Amino acid sequence: MAKTKTKTKTKAEKHLKHLYYFGKTRTEGRGVGKELLGGKGANLAEMTGIGLPVPPGFTITAAVCDLYYKHKGKLPAGLMDQVGQYVRTLEKELGKKFGDDKNPLLVSVRSGAAISMPGMMNTILNLGLTDQSVVALANATANERFAYDAYRRLINMYGDVVMGIGHEHFEEAFGKVKRKYEAKLDTDVPTEGLIELCSEYQDVYRHFTSKPFPQDPYTQLELAIEAVFKSWMQPRAVRYREVENIRGLLGTAVNVQSMVYGNMGSDSGTGVAFTRNPSTGENRFYGEFLINAQGEDVVAGIRTPQPVAEMPSWNKQVYKQLLGIKDTLEHHYRDMQDIEFTIERGTLFMLQTRTGKRTCAAAVRIACEMVKEKLIEEKTAVARVPAGDLTQLLLPSFDAAAKESHTVLTRGLPASPGAAVGALAFSAEEAVERTHAGQTVLLVRKETSPEDIDGMHSAVGILTSTGGMTSHAAVVARGWGRCCVAGAGELHIDARQRRLTVNGKVFTADDILSLDGTTGEVLEGSVATSEPKMSGDFARIMQWADKYRRLAVRTNADTPADAQRARDFGAEGIGLCRTEHMFFEESRITAMREMILAENEAARRKALAKLLPYQREDFVGIFTAMKGLPVTVRLLDPPLHEFLPHDAESQAEVARVLGVTPAAVQARVSRLHEANPMLGHRGCRLSVTYPEILEMQVRAIVEAAIECRKKRVDARPEIMIPLVGTDRELEMLGELTRETIDAVKKDTKFSGELEILVGTMIEVPRAALTAGAIARHAEFFSFGTNDLTQMTFGFSRDDVNSFLPDYLKKELLPVDPFQSLDVDGVGQLVEMATANGRQTRKGLKVGICGEHGGDPASVAFCHRVGLDYVSCSPFRVPIARLAAAQAALKDEKPKKSAKRRAPSGE
Ligand code: PEP
Ligand code: MG
Repeated sequence: MAKTKTKTKTKAEKHLKHLYYFGKTRTEGRGVGKELLGGKGANLAEMTGIGLPVPPGFTITAAVCDLYYKHKGKLPAGLMDQVGQYVRTLEKELGKKFGDDKNPLLVSVRSGAAISMPGMMNTILNLGLTDQSVVALANATANERFAYDAYRRLINMYGDVVMGIGHEHFEEAFGKVKRKYEAKLDTDVPTEGLIELCSEYQDVYRHFTSKPFPQDPYTQLELAIEAVFKSWMQPRAVRYREVENIRGLLGTAVNVQSMVYGNMGSDSGTGVAFTRNPSTGENRFYGEFLINAQGEDVVAGIRTPQPVAEMPSWNKQVYKQLLGIKDTLEHHYRDMQDIEFTIERGTLFMLQTRTGKRTCAAAVRIACEMVKEKLIEEKTAVARVPAGDLTQLLLPSFDAAAKESHTVLTRGLPASPGAAVGALAFSAEEAVERTHAGQTVLLVRKETSPEDIDGMHSAVGILTSTGGMTSHAAVVARGWGRCCVAGAGELHIDARQRRLTVNGKVFTADDILSLDGTTGEVLEGSVATSEPKMSGDFARIMQWADKYRRLAVRTNADTPADAQRARDFGAEGIGLCRTEHMFFEESRITAMREMILAENEAARRKALAKLLPYQREDFVGIFTAMKGLPVTVRLLDPPLHEFLPHDAESQAEVARVLGVTPAAVQARVSRLHEANPMLGHRGCRLSVTYPEILEMQVRAIVEAAIECRKKRVDARPEIMIPLVGTDRELEMLGELTRETIDAVKKDTKFSGELEILVGTMIEVPRAALTAGAIARHAEFFSFGTNDLTQMTFGFSRDDVNSFLPDYLKKELLPVDPFQSLDVDGVGQLVEMATANGRQTRKGLKVGICGEHGGDPASVAFCHRVGLDYVSCSPFRVPIARLAAAQAALKDEKPKKSAKRRAPSGE
């Protein structure tokens, strides 16, 4: 009895552990995981554990943040007592005292969630400084200037972050002092100026809070911890999580860490770096540092820093040590790392490491090169490239020839690759508004701050005049694959006048510029773009992906050009050829309209005979582009009214061309009118009413295949009947299809091998429910998940956007079900129909051809339920190939003898 009680208590106690120490005294957090410690806390523990120079400190878990919100903004009882104990351990380890008047300990208080949210939450440095301890710090370091510089930063940051005093009020006070001492830069202000500034800042603080700046370090610490928790819910952080689809986290952890100082003079500095280039993936240490500066100066983009490659001329020893740490970290985490470091009087300290955000191009290159370097295995490389991000590599870039004819206005830093063309928006709000209004804009800012997040997301590209490669703008843009040119110092941006001046030329909101995020060039006008190619490391990753995937990947294509492009991207056939697109061209639409207006079958057949050669010709082109691979041709699907004009003028023109009266056209349009056309006379229902349409289309397909075969082109058509809801529909139309195939073979005296599968789309819930019976007449199923989603939810595909944003915002749905398959609902129908279909017909081929076929999460679902293939638009074929491989790799059981897995760096 007693034993059980003790056990329960221990467990509860363990659960209630809120603080984790890292330092020489002990390191408690290794293996605890980032869900509780946050990425930063987990990695600080890890780095301390492997012996890297990390200033000691402790992490307050994200569970405390959760409790803070559950208790309506109150820290759990006793937390600050525990904090006090941990501070005392710190004091003992460092031989300093918090708030001491001799040798004061200062700490930083930083946020850190399980998933990194660069710049979205709060940080406070130099905590523990007071009027008394600042004097002590000056004495202890024999550096009065440094001590007051640290103090003024604390009052400013604390006032801003904890008390919500606008930064501009502090800026104003700084301006006054600078003017008094005729100082151009912050660093020109003499010590007495900084002392004065501290007292000015305290006045600002008092003015806005009606309280003096707190002189008790523990009060400072408590409010700072709360401020970090509060920043979890501030709008920019909430918005970032929305955009990045980050859900289910407890909150942010808080890291309280002893300070080291990069601003102690010209032998000190601070920097951020990536172990490899995050834009291109090149294996070269890549980063920036600032001499005599403190942490936030680098990432905030206020001063433009120096590249780390220039560090040896400043301090060779530190540079060498940093390179060594870079290798240690890469070998430990087996991935590219993003690090923060500080050099205090020539001694290097590591403040952070995390998995580095990178562009897709970099992800692909790093994955391939790490395999070559034997850091990771091929399978890890395949699993590591985010499939959805491949879009970045498949986007067009600027056409080299087209670029020649445009003026390069200036060059900034190539912060995030890609090509972007747009009009100029001078504020985040403007970018959002104009994008909503249908314009394509570039967000042009002196520097971007985290508040600009919405504007950055709306714009097609981002251009800034200050800030380095690791500024927030650059990091966030790269994460999204958004083109960004940063730090283009020759730009003069006047946001108020909405004007940009560069080398004497002036541009306004209506002017168009082109950004090359790969080279950093800013070009005048709209530069034409060129198609991407799949080669080098990209091709290698795809080859590896093909080795591991089980799902086949086809494409949705209706033209030979699209078919060819998809084939180049690795498509293994066409899963959906929408034939209606072939009827819209000028020469065909007339015959199509004639068919629709025909009063009887004979007249309809006459018009259809005119369409036949066009269809046949199209199919020959597609079969040729896809020779040797299956091509699933879907018979006519949309309601007929879509082929007729709805305004009187155009109807009169149709009447003139077809030699009928405008009234006849108008009457037919009225008769075709439906209240719910998507639920109306479309799909196989058209062939039920007008079997001659089916006959013409099947004839065109078979004649084209035979023509190809005669030319030794291996055409492999499959015929797909859309929108079937009952087995009887398919029985009847399937029979007619097969009869027509035989008739054409006979008519053309074709005696060779030509097997044509006849199957159906499953896109009506009833079809999914009765799939067992339907499979009696279908040689394959293809899930049309666009319609199946529409009809399962009862959400109109065409009108869903009038309310879907509310559903997403209120988290009634996790994602847009038209983009990513609703596994719980629509997915059940897919799984059940597949199983029942295969029970009737062993080995029934099953695929999916709705938009979901190119969505990585949906592809993973298709793999899981045993589909044979997915089919998607040509540009998404590589995404589907990679996603299919990743899904297959997830299935593999981890090997028992596997070596210790590298810890997760995030
Ligand atoms: C579908 O409904 O999923 C489908 C592929 O057909 P369409 O989008 O042409 O209706
Ligand atoms: Mg459909």
